[in-house]
Amino acid sequence: MSFIVAIDGPAGTGKGTVTEILSKKFNLINIDTGATYRCVTLDMLNKGIKLEELDKIKELLKNLQIELKVENGKQLVFLNGKEVTKEIRNKEVSGLVSQVSSIKEVRLSMVDLQRKMAEGKNVIMEGRDIGTYVFPTADVKIYLDADLEERAKRRFKQNVEKGLTMSYVEVIDNIKKRDENDKQKEIGALKVAKDAEVIDSTSMSINEVVREISSIIKKKQKDIKMQEKIYRVRKETAWKKFVRKLVKVTLGVVYRIAFRVKITGQVPDEGAYVLCCNHINYLDAAAIVLFNKRKVNFVAKEDLFQHGILMWLGHLFDVIPIKRDMQDIDAMKRCLKVLKNGELLGIFPEGTRKGMEKNMKAKNGAAFMAMKAKVKVIPIGIHGTFKPFSKVYMNYGEPIDLSGYTKDNLDEATENIMDTIVMLTKKED
Ligand code: C5P
Repeated sequence: MSFIVAIDGPAGTGKGTVTEILSKKFNLINIDTGATYRCVTLDMLNKGIKLEELDKIKELLKNLQIELKVENGKQLVFLNGKEVTKEIRNKEVSGLVSQVSSIKEVRLSMVDLQRKMAEGKNVIMEGRDIGTYVFPTADVKIYLDADLEERAKRRFKQNVEKGLTMSYVEVIDNIKKRDENDKQKEIGALKVAKDAEVIDSTSMSINEVVREISSIIKKKQKDIKMQEKIYRVRKETAWKKFVRKLVKVTLGVVYRIAFRVKITGQVPDEGAYVLCCNHINYLDAAAIVLFNKRKVNFVAKEDLFQHGILMWLGHLFDVIPIKRDMQDIDAMKRCLKVLKNGELLGIFPEGTRKGMEKNMKAKNGAAFMAMKAKVKVIPIGIHGTFKPFSKVYMNYGEPIDLSGYTKDNLDEATENIMDTIVMLTKKED
């Protein structure tokens, strides 16, 4: 899996400098996408090809070879085998590049090249359309901005340092024109991606910008690591089975002493079923898992896995983590796999604790899963408070057959399940 950081923004915002520092700091391959458009422009200028000569441009693109390399810590650009790092920044190229990069064929060809350059790697990509077009699913998206005058000042200073001859007026004029053109592009126009972090660097030093982006990257890397841990599936082994049994017995004793759990009914010895239960508090799912003669694969919100011991228990009991605020297709697939394997899947249709009391509409996921896998639902009504030494009633109902419902009346199917659960919560003996 590759890790992609997209740094977009207009000219002179410090993207290049910041990207170079970050690439070293986080060991990411630095891909300067602007350099690829500059190479096409330089090649056109060298060959005397005009903007309107599309056939010649297409031919040029076919034979073009662009390479971005790091040598002695310096980022170098090669065009058809020749080093052009400095040349691509000259006045002529800077004046024409925005128009060249607006040509559809150039754009498609360069985007293709940029995607190939990043394939399977950990990269930091600098440009205008990385977060919106080249890699819309980039892990980190930054939009760097700054006032026009400040950007022109920076670019002018940079040019002087690089020995490039352009007056301040020429620089500001060039940046202005390029910004305007870059925003109008048919494909890959310069704009803020909706999930990008916008950083205005007008009154910030490079170090400050680097620090801010670094903390965003670090947070994302931490999140990804956590996600990997959460979604790691522990293989079923004899040892895992043994530990699960041990935990079940030990915690079962604790539960029995603490809550005096009274159970009526049970699940059939074999076959796939969706177990649906009302959700009073965090202790009820464990009660179902601990006092079931079979293994129940419960679905739980992924936040639950953030805590060490709960993550361990989650993996031990093959709890399926689910992202709550979206349609979690991956979680759905894992649920269906459980049912396909002839196992038990545990779901709280209320979606949250005391959903019914809060008058929240029950979720259709359980009914959907049961219908999709063509299995029955076993309703469970739990009644009690889970206060120490109080009684908790766990009443299993008869399996509900949902084969009479279709995906158009999922609401009714869910209602059927919930009504049965409510009735079961009223049974005390
Ligand atoms: O970043 P740099 O100033 O070198 O980019 C040169 C030009 O290339 C930009 O003004 C823009 O027109 C074009 N460009 C682009 N999309 C990118 C990167 C650069 O259109 N991703």
